[in-house]
Amino acid sequence: MSPLITAAPPSDVVVLGAGAAGIAAAIAAAREGARTLLLEAGPLPGGELLTGMAVDGALNARGEWVVGGVARELFDECERLGGYIGPLNDWRLIHYVCYDPEIMKLAVARTLARHGVRLWLHSYVYDAEADDGLIRAVHVLNKRGRTRIEAPVFVDASGDGDLAVRAGARAENGGEGGQFQPLSIMFRMAGVDTPRLLGFLRDAPQHFALGESEAIRGGRSDGDIVKAVIDQGQPTVFLKGDGPLLAEAIAAGEMYPTALIMIQPTSAARGEVCLNTTRVANIDATRTEQLSAALAPLAEQVETCMRFMRRRVPGFESATLSGVAPRIGIRETRRVVCDATLTEQDVLRARKRDDGIGKGSHHVDIHQDGAGQIRIPVDGGGSYDIPWGCLLPRGVRNVALAGRCLSADRAAHGSARVMGPCLAMGQAAGTAAAMLADSGGGDYRRLEVSALRERLRQRGAILDGTY
Ligand SMILES: Cc1cc2nc3c(=O)[nH]c(=O)nc-3n(C[C@H](O)[C@H](O)[C@H](O)COP(=O)(O)OP(=O)(O)OC[C@H]3O[C@@H](n4cnc5c(N)ncnc54)[C@H](O)[C@@H]3O)c2cc1C
Repeated sequence: MSPLITAAPPSDVVVLGAGAAGIAAAIAAAREGARTLLLEAGPLPGGELLTGMAVDGALNARGEWVVGGVARELFDECERLGGYIGPLNDWRLIHYVCYDPEIMKLAVARTLARHGVRLWLHSYVYDAEADDGLIRAVHVLNKRGRTRIEAPVFVDASGDGDLAVRAGARAENGGEGGQFQPLSIMFRMAGVDTPRLLGFLRDAPQHFALGESEAIRGGRSDGDIVKAVIDQGQPTVFLKGDGPLLAEAIAAGEMYPTALIMIQPTSAARGEVCLNTTRVANIDATRTEQLSAALAPLAEQVETCMRFMRRRVPGFESATLSGVAPRIGIRETRRVVCDATLTEQDVLRARKRDDGIGKGSHHVDIHQDGAGQIRIPVDGGGSYDIPWGCLLPRGVRNVALAGRCLSADRAAHGSARVMGPCLAMGQAAGTAAAMLADSGGGDYRRLEVSALRERLRQRGAILDGTY
């Protein structure tokens, strides 16, 4: 075995994982002046921000912004680079933020560099040295060999809670009986004729999911909603699995079983949309062999769906494949057990709290096997607060979580897992990490949550004053 190298750059804060939560954590920590090292197993920082999907949960269903700070900075950078579409009403359940994922690749890289985050790509954290709940160092494997990296404070934004679990925290994995939300691979099609697609919606609305939350519907008829989608002028439509077009295609074997084909704009210049529809359910993505085996059926589904869109959906006749996500999308693995747990009732009742460090607003959204999907809107189209304790793993002192590995029951996780709250949790964990490192490290619980909240407000985070 190669020797363990110890000559890593000195760091105040080490962030594990460069998905939406990890980049927000690293940017926030570096912005506070902490020497910040961001470790990522993959080839690029940004995670699902780069795969074509829109950011959900940054606005509530009333159209009110509930996430700011680092998220705002990334959107502004996209806008400067000409790749920001902005918030759209999906006229089904939510308002989401659309942008060009190719531009987001540049925006993430530029924002990390501007704040002085040190980034190690292709670097896999495979072990941790922990003593009495205090992590001393992580061990990283990359081309250089095996490196030991010490730091006083860590953020675990691995999606799977890898670091917290290695340090002794407990986690729940998926649902009962081995249920896991499906893996999906996102893909994009360019050359879409948007007026023709919207004309199809006008002529055949029975194929589409519309106005599923009262906050969006606002007493409107289906006809009014169709008109509002058309007036918005964007290809933001949802072919529903139980609508005649898709249901018949599924029954005939022309399409695989799926709840929806979600279509969202990514670039007007390319006439491009992202399609979120492929699915292989009940795979434990922490099992590498199972995760990898899902790639072939997902790739097959991309081809099947493209063929279906070109043949059956007006506006897609001449559309071509323009991008496939560079990784299989993972919705659900571990939820680390923390000091506090976000519950379904917290989410659905839009519960506010004085220890909230960020907000979520997305509906409870649990994709299931085949054509199943649970979608329960938040009361009144509001937002809920994520308690600081949901990021503090029980039994581990100097690591905070950020992102989809937070402590939540399965239904609440179905809401808080989307990228708006992941960015907010990342900013909170990174800011706290820098504050803790600045005061000598140790236990995150030493920090006053009121001081953390105040610092987050100063940095543009939205903590108060929303529904
Ligand atoms: C198909 C799909 C569709 C979705 N649709 C939407 C949508 O439309 N809108 C929305 O807002 N959200 C959506 N979501 C949810 C959302 O994208 C994710 O839940 C969110 O991006 C999770 O971010 P994260 O940073 O917590 O984790 P991840 O994105 O999983 O990032 C974790 C990062 O850590 C790295 N990593 C993991 N372990 C290690 C290790 N040991 N060492 C080094 N690096 C490691 C990984 O490579 C990865 O880059 C969707 C998710 C999927 C899968």
